[in-house]
Amino acid sequence: MLIKNQIYEATVTDYTAEGQGVARIEGCAVFIPNAIAGEKCTVRIEKVGKTWAAGKMVQILERSPHRINRACPVAKLCGGCDFHHMDYEEECRLKASRVRDCLNRLGGQKLEEVPIHGAPSTTCYRNKAQYPVAVEKGRAYAGFFKAGTHQVIENKRCLILPEVADQVKDAVIDWMNQYRISVYDEETHRGLVRHIYVRQGAVSRQVLVCIVANGRKLNRIPELLDRLKKIPGFATLVLSVNTRPGNAVLGDEFITLWGPGYIEDTLCGLTFRLSPRSFYQVNHHQAQELYRAAITAAGITKADTVLDLYCGVGTITLAMSQAAGRVIGVEVIPQAVEDAKQNALRNGVTNAEFICADAGEAALALERQGIKADVVVVDPPRKGLNADAIEAIHRFSPRRLVYVSCDPATLARDVALLEQRGFRLQNAQAFDLFPRCAHVESIVTMIKEEQ
Ligand code: SAH
Repeated sequence: MLIKNQIYEATVTDYTAEGQGVARIEGCAVFIPNAIAGEKCTVRIEKVGKTWAAGKMVQILERSPHRINRACPVAKLCGGCDFHHMDYEEECRLKASRVRDCLNRLGGQKLEEVPIHGAPSTTCYRNKAQYPVAVEKGRAYAGFFKAGTHQVIENKRCLILPEVADQVKDAVIDWMNQYRISVYDEETHRGLVRHIYVRQGAVSRQVLVCIVANGRKLNRIPELLDRLKKIPGFATLVLSVNTRPGNAVLGDEFITLWGPGYIEDTLCGLTFRLSPRSFYQVNHHQAQELYRAAITAAGITKADTVLDLYCGVGTITLAMSQAAGRVIGVEVIPQAVEDAKQNALRNGVTNAEFICADAGEAALALERQGIKADVVVVDPPRKGLNADAIEAIHRFSPRRLVYVSCDPATLARDVALLEQRGFRLQNAQAFDLFPRCAHVESIVTMIKEEQ
């Protein structure tokens, strides 16, 4: 049994899903933030659980060749990134291993390796920022939450964001301080501004600014617009009303204060309209790589009907429409479905339909109506597929299933469930859409076994 506050020597062998180092000390798995596999270090034990412990690195005894000096001045405090302490080669290696290990351990596969498509750039790649706002000594400021807390760490220039995002943040904060616009306080549930949300079209360069507020009324809008209009590409200002306590950033009501309320961007040769609430991958270059790989994996012909479950604004659906006979997208957020329909019109796509519903329920209903899906694509949120979606895929019995996933653990769970229903994994690839952060995307192709 490890003893709290005692210092032990350890060799780091692996990583957790969140990117912390893992070492085994006296048979117990110890999680050590900022440790790199292969490193020998001394660790102070801070918490002891039944089968695990958490520790803090005290001294590095043998340094990994992958350890680098952090370029970001607030990297140690800010909870936004996980990997500023290691080079990108090690980050890609650990992400690929994570996808492989999940598929093997939880998905019952025997993969030796899963290839990873690394990003060409690890900086300025995000096209969306959500800054929580806080106040100190009467001055508003914005930044990111310290890991595991709601303490806002000020970040003057975030390295993974485009400069324009920080320009918007600075303009809004300047406006708030000049006109004494209040900051929301989670504890008392008083005060107005909660988050500053910025989205930039990677190709169009259009900028959407959304102020998330604990109320419907914003004063001094002309003064805010004066500042925002100086920012290159500024296209629209939206107020998101979020009066509920809790962690959800955006509220359900959106009020357009200036401009059309959305921006446009180009992806895979198509134009997409993006509202604040619509999902859009944050790394444009890598999203294109991901979608192109999904299209190749789907092996679609003009005779095929493709069902795209969890379709968002129709990115994958429309990108696949050119190769297919008919495409049907299903998405639960009404604004995203509205965007998807507009996107089909905007791009002259006439063989796409969109349904606003739960993916599993809609898929079961389509199957009951006698629709045949030759290829099914799924791209669910982190929790993966629900029982209805698995059952519907089983009943559709498509030639191919392309599973785009943002969580290798739930992907692996679903792969095992689909194997029980006659699908076999044909190919697995990892994609890094989030350099410096622990998340990893992957695509798995499954084919239906001959009956
Ligand atoms: N394929 C799209 C979106 C993927 S993100 C793209 O790459 O752009 C996952 C999407 O699933 C989100 O748009 C989310 O709103 C949607 N979603 C979440 N739960 C859902 C459900 N139960 N049924 C249908 N869609 C859902």
